[in-house]
Amino acid sequence: MNNNSKVLALKYRPKTFKDLIGQEVVAKTIYNSIKNNRSANAYLFTGIRGVGKTTIARIVAKSLNCLKGIDQLCSEEFCENCKSISNSNHIDVLEMDAASKTGVDDVRDLIEFSRYGPATAKYKIFIIDEVHMLSKQAFNALLKTLEEPPEYLKFIFATTEIKKIPVTVVSRCQRFDLSRVNSVDLFNFIKEVKNKEKGKINDEALKLIVKISEGSVRDALSLLDRALLNQNEKSELELKSAQKIFGYLDKSYLINLFKFLFKGSEKEVINIYRSIYNQGIEPKIFLNDFLEILYYIKNISSLKLDGTNFSLNDVEFKEIELISKEISPEILLLFWQFTVKTLDELDIVSNQNLSMEMFLIRLLYLKEDKIIETKKDIALKYENYSNNINKSDKIQPSKDEEDLEIKNKTISQIKNFFQEETSNPERKIDSKIKKIEITSFENLINLCNENKELKLKYELETNVSLVSFVDKKIEISFNENLDKDFVKELSLKLYEWTGQRWIIAFSKKIGELSKKQKEDIEKSKIIEEVKKKDTFKRVLEIFPDAELIDVKSKDNE
Ligand SMILES: [Zn+2]
Repeated sequence: MNNNSKVLALKYRPKTFKDLIGQEVVAKTIYNSIKNNRSANAYLFTGIRGVGKTTIARIVAKSLNCLKGIDQLCSEEFCENCKSISNSNHIDVLEMDAASKTGVDDVRDLIEFSRYGPATAKYKIFIIDEVHMLSKQAFNALLKTLEEPPEYLKFIFATTEIKKIPVTVVSRCQRFDLSRVNSVDLFNFIKEVKNKEKGKINDEALKLIVKISEGSVRDALSLLDRALLNQNEKSELELKSAQKIFGYLDKSYLINLFKFLFKGSEKEVINIYRSIYNQGIEPKIFLNDFLEILYYIKNISSLKLDGTNFSLNDVEFKEIELISKEISPEILLLFWQFTVKTLDELDIVSNQNLSMEMFLIRLLYLKEDKIIETKKDIALKYENYSNNINKSDKIQPSKDEEDLEIKNKTISQIKNFFQEETSNPERKIDSKIKKIEITSFENLINLCNENKELKLKYELETNVSLVSFVDKKIEISFNENLDKDFVKELSLKLYEWTGQRWIIAFSKKIGELSKKQKEDIEKSKIIEEVKKKDTFKRVLEIFPDAELIDVKSKDNE
């Protein structure tokens, strides 16, 4: 937060219950209880950041201690008490941030202090912000005082994480859940502030502020501040400029991307994605916005376009309406599922940008009904297939003709699927990618090792037999232990390393022995040789039960 936004947030900080935005019910309840001398011993305010928890805490403190009484609560001219409370230096009103003072000793000091009545005000009040940060012992220490507080003592707690507060504490407080401020209220509020500040910002840009701040008044004010700093003397600040200022993704890009996605134009889809990425939009934000548009496409028919819609403007609304007519709900749901999954996996991939491109390309293929079915088939048959070849390392013709048929089909389907994915030669690789040449299978295994892709390396050495390795095409056979995601992962890595698409095909041929098999054979040969040696025979004479299990060469040590 820059200094200026602090000023704005401070300047427009609510001073009385009436100033509060969107918390009318809470304000009224508290007002009534204080008015009727039935105020709670402890108040607990919970809600997301910036909805006014500490602001309300101070208003409550002022309402309890204002010299003019709750109905004339100071808003312009402050009485002594209100003045000190507003400046956080009232002798009887202690504010504590539990984020920095979490220990039992801090709480003990506080309780010690609570043993004496207020010095100047009616009530002694402890305001504890982020109260969930207190340690367990600190809560226990607090509990006794909370159970039987003296008449003059009041607690006001604020927290963003109510679940972390012991039930025993919560149950002794009057709890208020502050809701996010609704969009219309927030819009009216920042528009009023904008007018007071003589700002030139149009309504669409203000709506964007409301949308980004997700119901937090503080966030909205801070964004408004940035907008005010960036405005132009001559003209109003418009949506486009606001989007730039806030680093917000223009929806029209995404809507366009969807259009091409549903048309099946890979080249355009990737180009649009790259231009989004080049604007500095992070993959995570991209995926979340992507989900949002998906939601609209699916549900546009039940949405209304009116003043209360803060997410779409009229052009976007119409475009989404058009798209939604063209595409079936099944596909949208499938897309949704796939996007959520990708979002989940985002943290485990090293090059998020590349996986975004792969993600989009996959969607292109998912789209075709036919391919969706094929994929389901592949998954099923692939499973059968790998189960069937369990018994031996090589693929033998099955006695069951039908089975064989499935195997053959599966192999060619898997091949086709990956070949299709590689079919667009126009796509150029990101300049950031280092182009590495991989010339042999051995080479590939070493590369996995260098890049710490140990799982891939293990699979390649242990569960895969090489049939052929020529010009970006690897043909392999494999045993039953091969991980089901092996091809997917290897393809992704190969693309990452070389900037080119590789074809990985399963072959019915037996292939070379795997590296592990070769090593095992080599070792058993050596063991046999050693067994023939005199040294070993002498060992056997002394220890007749001895068995030779492993042999290590001195050179390797
Ligand atoms: Zn006052």
